[in-house]
Amino acid sequence: MNDEPNAGPGLQSDAGVPAGILAAALTAWIAGARRDLPWRRRRDPYAVWVSEIMLQQTRAATVVPYFERWMARFPTVTTLASAPLGDVLKAWEGLGYYARARNLHRAARELTLRFGGELPGNRAVLLALPGIGRYTAGAILSLAFGQTEPVLDGNVRRVLARLFDVAEDIGDPKIEAILWQKATELVGAAPSGRAGDLNEALMELGALVCVPGVPDCGRCPVAAFCIARARGVQAERPVRARKAPAPYYDVTAGVVQDSSGRYLIVQRPEQGLLGGLWGFPGGVAGAGEELPVGLARALRAQVGIEIEVREPLVQVRHAYTHFRITLHAYRCRLASGEPRALLCADVRWVAPDGLAGYAFPVTDAKVLRTLGLR
Ligand code: SF4
Repeated sequence: MNDEPNAGPGLQSDAGVPAGILAAALTAWIAGARRDLPWRRRRDPYAVWVSEIMLQQTRAATVVPYFERWMARFPTVTTLASAPLGDVLKAWEGLGYYARARNLHRAARELTLRFGGELPGNRAVLLALPGIGRYTAGAILSLAFGQTEPVLDGNVRRVLARLFDVAEDIGDPKIEAILWQKATELVGAAPSGRAGDLNEALMELGALVCVPGVPDCGRCPVAAFCIARARGVQAERPVRARKAPAPYYDVTAGVVQDSSGRYLIVQRPEQGLLGGLWGFPGGVAGAGEELPVGLARALRAQVGIEIEVREPLVQVRHAYTHFRITLHAYRCRLASGEPRALLCADVRWVAPDGLAGYAFPVTDAKVLRTLGLR
């Protein structure tokens, strides 16, 4: 392996440091800094793919047990492809952003049909798969195949915005393009065969040292070249435009039992938020609508039953990416009607000890805990 820095194309910090010097410092640092994480013990494309998808929006410490259970349950692309979607969602339960699990499943089926269950080291093919964008393709290609492909996730954005003191909104597409360009030039300047190490160094630096808020510059391998640090503005980078507050909704859920104690649960349509997951029936309350009235209306429309809304059980607040909700769960009595799937994918009566076999979103899982069923 050649560890000589490649001078690299035109990337220079304001201090005139060639990209090759930065790349050499980063790749030298990662050898001793890398955390021992299970996906790093097996650098195959499938493990890199699954771990990178799980790590989007989720902390590494949370991902570790999910990753280990996932690899034991679905050790290859083909085992994932042949599993029912319900099993895949169950394995993902609690990680959130369930479109990630649905996309992994769909992509595994496509890979099994078209490539015998192998992930090809081909950028265009990877980018055409569900759920794989530029970042994930770059991670798979560089970490598993050693290709000179850049990555730019939240951690890398923050590191680059500080290293080069980018003073504009990193959400602006023009700035995003500049950051991709910098990531591309840096990985292009990595010592021969070490593109994956360079990318991993940027990701680890952002996760461990160049952290949000106040970075730990004293432990940084590129502190001597960091423009934001030289200017004393590292805690003010990256710059993000202030967002409008996320919309808020009150959502109702009805906990209905039949005469034998089974609970009524519904499955969400596969397309859309939390698609394929199960939960208690209910829906978004109308503006100014009394919650029990909204709940009765929702169950009439969703499963065709009339209910009597009884005592409130629990309120669960939750923030999704683009909106916030409070879920108001009520105990209800079935007054009339036989449940049928009108505005949901499926509806079932399930005995309390059978509920563990279904994947629920975090809000409904809290209702189950309130009922002593989790
Ligand atoms: Fe981040 Fe500080 Fe290193 Fe600059 S010197 S890259 S701000 S940790």
